[in-house]
Order: sequence, then structure tokens, then C-alpha cells
Amino acid sequence: MNPEQLQHYRTLLEAQLAGLVSANREHEALLDESRTTEDFTGADRASDLETLEVDSLVTESERRLAFKIRHALERIDLGTYGLCEACGASIATARLDAKPSVSLCLACQEKHEAA
Ligand SMILES: [Zn+2]
Repeated sequence: MNPEQLQHYRTLLEAQLAGLVSANREHEALLDESRTTEDFTGADRASDLETLEVDSLVTESERRLAFKIRHALERIDLGTYGLCEACGASIATARLDAKPSVSLCLACQEKHEAA
């Protein structure tokens, strides 16, 4: 991958991360009032639980995505961006364009999901 391409993906990743961080801030602000404890075990809070579970899933997937984006940015610095972390093959640029934080080639991703 040439420096122009790396710069292109770095810009995409940084924009994605910035969008995620600001969306997450709004999300946390909304949750602040309703979510005062991490303990959802009370049976009498079944309806709360349902709502909170959905909210925490969103947050968890956002956290994971943020982690993947940061990891991809690190790989740009290390010079391993665009290479599959499992088999070392180049990841198709069409795949990176669709999801710049991806770290596996399509074949390894499919194996990973089947496992
Ligand atoms: Zn692979």
C-alpha cells in the first residue's frame, strides 16, 4: 500500500472515530439519568433491564468499533495496515473502502464467523 493510500485510510478512520466519539457523548448524556448502576439483576426491574440491555449493547458495539479503529490507526503507523492479521494476505481495497477498520481478509473473516 502506498503512502497516499495509507493517508486516505487514516483520514477515513480518524473521521469515523471522531464521529463515534461525539455520538457516544450524546448517548452517554442520555443514559446518565436512567443508568445509575451496572447491576441489572433485580427481577423487579425486568422492563428497565430490557431497555438497558439494548442501550448497553449499542455502547458495547461502539466501544468495540472504537477499539478496532484505534487498532487500525496503529497498524498504519506500524506499516501493517491493509494486511490480514490472520494470514498476512493483502485485504482487498474494496473491503477497506467499505470498512476501513477491518483487520481480516474476507476468507479469514468467514472462517472466524463460522468458528
Ligand atoms: Zn486472511
